[in-house]
Amino acid sequence: MSSSLRFKMVEEAFDRKAVAVAKPAERPEKYYGELVFDSRKMFEYLPKEAYESLQHAITNKQPISRQLADVVAEGMRRWAIDNGARHYTHWFAPLTGGTAEKHDAFIVHDGKGGVVEEFSGKLLVQQEPDASSFPNGGIRNTFEARGYSAWDISSPAFILDQTLCIPTIFISYTGESLDYKTPLLRALNSVDLAATAVARYFDPEVKHVISYLGWEQEYFLVDESLYSARPDLVMTGRTLMGHESAKNQQLEDHYFGSIPSRVEAFMLDLEIQCHRLGIPVKTRHNEVAPNQFEFAPIFEETNLANDHNLLLMSVMAETARRHNFRVLLHEKPFKGINGSGKHNNWSLGTDRGAMLFSPGRTPLDNLQFITFVANVMAAVHRHNALIKASIMSATNSHRLGANEAPPAIISIFTGSQLAEILNKIASSDSTDLSDLKKKAEYSLGLAQIPELTIDNTDRNRTSPFAFTGNRFEFRAVGSSANCASAMIVLNAAVADQLNEFHAKIEARLAAGEKLTDAILAEVRILIRQSEAIHFDGNGYSDEWQEEAKRRGLDCETSAPKMFDAYLAPSSVEMFARTRVLSKVELEARNEVKWEIYTKKIQIEARVLGDLALNHIIPVATRYQSTLVENLVKLRDLLGERASQIGAGDLEAIETISSHIDVIRKTVHDMVEARKTANAMTDEREKAISYHDNVVPAMETIRYHIDKLELLVDNEMWPLPKYRELLFIR
Ligand code: ADP
Ligand code: MG
Repeated sequence: MSSSLRFKMVEEAFDRKAVAVAKPAERPEKYYGELVFDSRKMFEYLPKEAYESLQHAITNKQPISRQLADVVAEGMRRWAIDNGARHYTHWFAPLTGGTAEKHDAFIVHDGKGGVVEEFSGKLLVQQEPDASSFPNGGIRNTFEARGYSAWDISSPAFILDQTLCIPTIFISYTGESLDYKTPLLRALNSVDLAATAVARYFDPEVKHVISYLGWEQEYFLVDESLYSARPDLVMTGRTLMGHESAKNQQLEDHYFGSIPSRVEAFMLDLEIQCHRLGIPVKTRHNEVAPNQFEFAPIFEETNLANDHNLLLMSVMAETARRHNFRVLLHEKPFKGINGSGKHNNWSLGTDRGAMLFSPGRTPLDNLQFITFVANVMAAVHRHNALIKASIMSATNSHRLGANEAPPAIISIFTGSQLAEILNKIASSDSTDLSDLKKKAEYSLGLAQIPELTIDNTDRNRTSPFAFTGNRFEFRAVGSSANCASAMIVLNAAVADQLNEFHAKIEARLAAGEKLTDAILAEVRILIRQSEAIHFDGNGYSDEWQEEAKRRGLDCETSAPKMFDAYLAPSSVEMFARTRVLSKVELEARNEVKWEIYTKKIQIEARVLGDLALNHIIPVATRYQSTLVENLVKLRDLLGERASQIGAGDLEAIETISSHIDVIRKTVHDMVEARKTANAMTDEREKAISYHDNVVPAMETIRYHIDKLELLVDNEMWPLPKYRELLFIR
């Protein structure tokens, strides 16, 4: 690669015009969900009985019979073909991240030498084997055994690129989950059961509690020409080098004149497609960093919301290409520039319409609100290390816990109003309560829980887990992550906590206590116990890191070691009680986490080594020789006086030399560190070795390359610079 390529790409990017988007003639309500086999289409394409049986099964989370599957498959096929589909695929989310598909045409032999289009129930849905009989064989063997997929009837099929996509779970033939969806469904079921039991103390008519998720997807857009001239972006999704651009607005306004029309066209295109696919997005423009944007939907049931996020991520990538952009979902594509997250707004609500994290109008509503909030705080406190592990990855570790990022410590922000209420309850004792009861009849403790209108303008952007008025906002989730990872842990942990709470209340009731007394007493205990997780201060400050350590919160900074939290006895037991993940599954999944961590760093290290030795050093050397030549000529011309006039050149020559030397040596050391790590057979040890020995070498190399970028003639520099990547659009 030469600098001429860089300038050609910059020129291309500058010249690019917005791609026209064909706007549908109808209003969104007309085409919203048209590519989804939703209940409207089911009604149209299925016989009445089949339609009703399927609806019943979906509502009651029941499996469907083979006969019904055959009828549904036929209806689904007809609908898909009417809408231009030619293939079908089981669509699932393997542990490697992203989504996987295997496309098959609908055609089968017709027995007369030709083909007919067919789609049977067998191909739509597969029977789930007994998941309780785990084999005793080696975990790895078990885990790598062939898996198969089975339709998740709670998530509707849809058409993408002329392919009927059927959301499925992915499991091994022995029933262990090989994906994110299986444990997510188990966790959602678990929290439904647990929260329903507790919600019934407040409303005996409650039958189900639904977990809701509203994600906010942050991302960067980079022009495709510039992207293609950055092998690091192409290979790893982030820049492995690049000096911060001068943070000057003038730069944008005058030199780079922003061209938002290209981005607007991309967003419009994406929005139209999302609406066709039934993803209820609302476009957002807020950019924290240059070329950074956000897309957020209206919140939905967690499993569906998560499928929609996975779908959005793949549609985004495709749409960006059509608009000559590349979308960067990496958590930290640019050093020194805001990273990208995916806030998971999470709440629980009953099938009777009560939102459990919303204060209500009556004292009882408010006691319910406090009860659920206190249980969430207790769960997050008890499992703070695990919750942190659920969002950690090689990529997100650049956003959390790295040098410039907020620390990787989980705490909950409540805001001053809620904090005051929690404090009041925690500091009261039963005598206070009975006094209160005498004074204000029914408003027991309810004098302590007065009119609650929680003002959600009370925001703290530095908190990884914040209460925001009617929900919790888990902000530590990374932009490229499958939200299920966080949602599995959070919903399971809260389910387990609610089960324990329920058992304690039952015991108190059995001992003759009044319900409200019992609840308040247990809530008080929870608030006191989980005090340490509550932090409303500045989460980015150094003092907080010290304070968090004193409070006993998990402060581990090494991603591969954070994964250990999944195998801590408290986690294994919690997952077993809630039946979300077995120990075998946990162990196997951790192996995968460590392996992915290692691979990501391995690829980055290789790309960085190559760029350093074959792109950067040759250019730096070339520039250095022009300086040397200049100096020689000066000496020829000026003799003795050259030592003064050429002093700057001489210094630059020496500085460049020293950077080159360090880079060469560190690349060599990094390769050796990799070799040592690669020889390890234990995946955990290997990942730790990559973290401890390869990553620091990469940081050193980058530091010196970034210094060279400032020294070497701009005309010669081969890779598009930050100012070009970030300000051209
Ligand atoms: P911001 O955090 O940017 O102020 P918004 O208030 O617009 O955001 O909401 C962000 C996300 O939170 C949206 O996806 C929205 O649907 C979701 N959200 C709002 N209320 C809830 C809730 N009760 N449960 C889950 N998600 C919610
Ligand atoms: Mg938010």
